[in-house]
Amino acid sequence: MTQDPWENLFAMIDGRRDELVDLAQALIRFPTVNPPGEAYRPCAEFIGRRLSARGFAVEYVHAAGTPGDSERHPRINVIARRDGAARGPCVHFNSHIDVVQTGAGWTLDPFAAIVKDGKIYGRGACDMKGGLAASIIAVEALIDSGASLPGTLEISGTVDEESGGYGGVHYLAERGWFSPPRVDHVIIPEPLNVDRVCIGHRGVWWAEIETHGRMAHGSMPFLGDCAVRHMNAVIDRLERDLYPKLVARRTSMPVVPSGARHSTLNINSIHGGQAESLGHPAPCVPDSCRLVIDRRLLIEENMDGVKSEVRELLEQLVREREGFSYDLRDIFEVQPTMADRNGPVARSTAAAIRRVIGREAEFVCSPGTYDQKHIDRIGKLRDCIAYGPGILDLAHQPDEYVLIEDMVNSAKVMAMAARSLLFGTA
Ligand SMILES: [Zn+2]
Repeated sequence: MTQDPWENLFAMIDGRRDELVDLAQALIRFPTVNPPGEAYRPCAEFIGRRLSARGFAVEYVHAAGTPGDSERHPRINVIARRDGAARGPCVHFNSHIDVVQTGAGWTLDPFAAIVKDGKIYGRGACDMKGGLAASIIAVEALIDSGASLPGTLEISGTVDEESGGYGGVHYLAERGWFSPPRVDHVIIPEPLNVDRVCIGHRGVWWAEIETHGRMAHGSMPFLGDCAVRHMNAVIDRLERDLYPKLVARRTSMPVVPSGARHSTLNINSIHGGQAESLGHPAPCVPDSCRLVIDRRLLIEENMDGVKSEVRELLEQLVREREGFSYDLRDIFEVQPTMADRNGPVARSTAAAIRRVIGREAEFVCSPGTYDQKHIDRIGKLRDCIAYGPGILDLAHQPDEYVLIEDMVNSAKVMAMAARSLLFGTA
């Protein structure tokens, strides 16, 4: 290589700063709110038109029949692919185009994409249209940098990440879009901060516990059996037996924030007793109480063990508590996942961070899940990370923004990492 092969590439990205801002603004102005899944098609087509003008082969994949898909709100994904001058690996940048509801507390129009003090404000600016825009500029600059690139570059804009990814990456992964040899390395530009490489996430088990009782008149509770009191016994067991165990269980995963470096359990909701009618409570002994739990698991745990830990606690109550009976229902589960931090995509991204930002990359894991789960489990592609601009804590907040400086720097990192991966010099 010549004395500094990267300076030319970085200068090209610096020269496109305004174009990067324009692109991020244009993306934010599509109100792709999920649910219900607004404006997916025009947003996908905007991305497709841009990339097809740059020589990409563009495909639109309609995830027909997936949750929320309808004539009014079709689940439209876009995948753009460009083959290089010679055979080589495929580097894929995957961004979700959906954003969460705006919610209360905004002081600026959430879809105006206002630029102020070096930041772009708007719903999705941080999570994750800033990252999507940076990846497009990175790839375009790389193509224009003159070197005849080997291998293949892909960019996708996918839907429904905020609701589990079933109409997006899940659907595509099941149909081979995220499997080798079609794709070899994936970068997901989620907002993890410009100097962090996210190699994975904890797992999830959502479940519902129902306790059963017997209905009777509220004036004579001794004739019935109160399901809410049975549930109280369950919560008491969780408090005394399970929570201390979970806090004591530490992981080797570098999860941020560090409070999430052990197993956690949230009680999402509790529902018990008869519904009130016209604001008047029913004078009845509740015959059912339901509790929804959200258990987050570590890479060191396994799903069966996590489930049987809760079931065992309930079985104990069956033995010890008169009249106690229950049902335990799975709602949703995701295995924890963690890519190799010495794998090609993590290593090349960390090297690019060192070169562009001037400090060592921090390897992190996410407390919650994102689309990497589908790429790993369904696509069977392990060399996948999340890396992108934006401050994680701002995601889903009012007055969400992305720093323009961070977008520019992350575009340089993505371009450098992609180039190293394509040339096999990572
Ligand atoms: Zn996101």
